[in-house]
Amino acid sequence: MALDSKIYLNAFECSPDGIIICDINAKIILTNKAAFSMFGYEPGELEGKSIQDLIPPHLRDKHKFHFRSFVSHPSARSMSNNMKLIGYRKDASNVSISIALNIIQNDSGEEMILAVIREITEFVRKTEELEKVSDQLKEALQLSALGHWEFHLANNTILWSPEVYEIFELGQAAFSSTNEGFEMLVHEEDREFVKQSYQNSITNQIPYNIVHRYITPKGSLKFLRERGRHIYDSDGLVVKTVGTVQDVTEVQKQRLLLNDYILKLEIKNKELEDYTHIATHDLQEPVNNIRGIISLLREELDSNSPAKEEIIYFIDLIKKASERLSTLIRGLMETARLGQVNPVSEVDCSELLVEVIEGLQFQFENNSAEITYPPLPVLKGYRFELGLLFQNLISNGLKYSKKGVAPVIKIDYHNQGADWLFTVEDNGIGIDPIHKDKLFKMFRRLHTQDDIEGTGIGLVQCKKIVEQHNGEIWFESEPGKGTVFYFTLRKNNN
Ligand code: ADP
Repeated sequence: MALDSKIYLNAFECSPDGIIICDINAKIILTNKAAFSMFGYEPGELEGKSIQDLIPPHLRDKHKFHFRSFVSHPSARSMSNNMKLIGYRKDASNVSISIALNIIQNDSGEEMILAVIREITEFVRKTEELEKVSDQLKEALQLSALGHWEFHLANNTILWSPEVYEIFELGQAAFSSTNEGFEMLVHEEDREFVKQSYQNSITNQIPYNIVHRYITPKGSLKFLRERGRHIYDSDGLVVKTVGTVQDVTEVQKQRLLLNDYILKLEIKNKELEDYTHIATHDLQEPVNNIRGIISLLREELDSNSPAKEEIIYFIDLIKKASERLSTLIRGLMETARLGQVNPVSEVDCSELLVEVIEGLQFQFENNSAEITYPPLPVLKGYRFELGLLFQNLISNGLKYSKKGVAPVIKIDYHNQGADWLFTVEDNGIGIDPIHKDKLFKMFRRLHTQDDIEGTGIGLVQCKKIVEQHNGEIWFESEPGKGTVFYFTLRKNNN
């Protein structure tokens, strides 16, 4: 069907895009409605003006150059939203536009320029908003130390966002982008657990959410939370896993600290429970003993007229029992106060040991005992308590010696990274290992008072002191073959 000129004219007038025709000198010949209203003009007002009038003054020189180069090399240029241009309205306001250009000829073969113009203000506004949101997202990712990754199973490829590289403190070249490459980055003690967790989340079709450790190229330890979910194909097979990684080192450190506090609190609670038990049971024993002696004495006084020696005998028994009771109570109080009176300080263990041995001089001479030790290290801890620890172990070595054999105590130590491992060895009667745990409990002894005197408090104090220095204590022994006490002490206790 042939189109008459009215249809052409209507199409021109009614086009939603603005159309401007100008000559090669930039003089506007014709505009449609969309064009003149886009620039705020009345019908016919633009005709005869220069295209330059539609360009913001500060861009006119630049435009002149572009216009000339288009005229000298005319070719159709399509409209693109990426080409953001600025138009200049009659009221001097700006309008965001996109332009398509072409060369046309009139009846007399004169070349003219056809410009199709689209207002893209809304598009530009939305794009700017989007850019803003994307910037905010990037900032949020950075602030929350969050990176994004994708693992494509088919070609074993891992894609990391720039944030992930930052979290791992790695350059692009330092990561092989394969699953094996990633596994090698994970802390070796967590590697198996990471593999298992990923496999488990695939098998059970559940999200992947774990924390693993990572050593940065500079050698510092990081805790990283990895979250991921799987994308399946139509057969239900995993195609890829998309996820995030977040640096949770600080949170994890706080959590570990909190766990440590909770653990310490539980130990304290247990200690309190133990003390309550001791007060109600173990200390009750000497009290009952005293009561028993008193009622015996009373019966004796009621029934006979006892001799003075007999009364003195009973009173001596009461005195002995009450003295023991007060020794036990004192020991108990002393144990409860350990680590609570003086602050930690630098402790030279050699110096400390000399003081301890001086304090035990009488026992050493009385037993013709010997002690050997190398120069001992300096550590940060509770001085009084550390002295008590050595004192209790050495005096036990002297006290539980074999009849007729001079005690020989050997002290030594070994470096164990953050800790010192100490040994206190004796050549005494030894301990049956079945009593291993029992002996570190309050008032637990293997001997009667008549046999070898004691309170059953010494080893409890040793355990408490060692634990206050973040260490452990244990012994190895066989009856008749001497005993070696081992204990570790953190080098730097705060
Ligand atoms: P006490 O020596 O006052 O009884 P301790 O708590 O120091 O209390 O020791 C608890 C028990 O452990 C002792 O009664 C003793 O049976 C045993 N024991 C401790 N040290 C040694 C040692 N070096 N050799 C043999 N037995 C020991």
